[in-house]
Amino acid sequence: MLSIHNLHASIDEKRILKGINLEIKPGEVHAIMGPNGSGKSTLASVLAGREDYTVTDGSVTFNGKDLLELSPEERAGEGLFLAFQYPVEIPGLSTTNFIKTAVNEVRKYRGEEALDAVAFLKLMKEKMAMTNIDQTLLSRSLNEGFSGGEKKRNEVFQMAMLQPKLAILDETDSGLDIDAIRIVANGVNKLRSKDNAVLLVTHYQRLLDYIVPDVIHVLYNGQIVKSGPKELALELEERGYDFIKEQFKAEA
Ligand code: ADP
Ligand code: MG
Ligand code: MG
Repeated sequence: MLSIHNLHASIDEKRILKGINLEIKPGEVHAIMGPNGSGKSTLASVLAGREDYTVTDGSVTFNGKDLLELSPEERAGEGLFLAFQYPVEIPGLSTTNFIKTAVNEVRKYRGEEALDAVAFLKLMKEKMAMTNIDQTLLSRSLNEGFSGGEKKRNEVFQMAMLQPKLAILDETDSGLDIDAIRIVANGVNKLRSKDNAVLLVTHYQRLLDYIVPDVIHVLYNGQIVKSGPKELALELEERGYDFIKEQFKAEA
């Protein structure tokens, strides 16, 4: 589904990603962990197609297409979802209308007709029940005055509505409390199916108590330096990242 080969990326001439290799198959959940500043958010941003990053080498294939050639809208149309694409507050735009536009953009890209009011409402009801989201939240302006937990709930709801093939979640928020962790975990676990995949960027071993990934990768200094099963998170929790840093000093 997603195949990253030798990906290098820079920002303002500064090299950040230095040869990322990663394969994600349908049905899999991959977690990316690693010390601060190692390039986790950069990787997510490059996959999202954010413009401030320059890919200097390597390739990314998504559903057989060259992802790097696609605009962010085309990426969404292909079934890529990035939670942090929409953290902005938009006064006057209700969350419902925002999501309706997003859903219909994706349908248009796929050559499908826009959902009419009845069909959209039906989908909304189904996904509201699934993600346990409140109607009043959806009628408020997008993200305006949302608490951390409400923002997370909203992201998870968007994800459920868009039914992406691959969801990339960058959980950078250091204020992710236990409530928000549960909201994200429930959303991801409900999305999980044999056809969908998730790439979860996280600083928190704790999140992985709720979402059990198939593979964990450690990103350090722009490269994936270690991959392993879910137990790797426990090892990292216990030992911290120092042993990885030490190992690299020793090898350098
Ligand atoms: P992580 O998410 O793993 O904490 P990031 O991808 O955010 O790491 O950052 C990787 C490195 O790139 C850091 O050294 C950071 O300072 C640098 N960086 C990220 N964004 C920018 C930017 N807009 N301008 C300059 N440097 C940046
Ligand atoms: Mg960071
Ligand atoms: Mg980050």
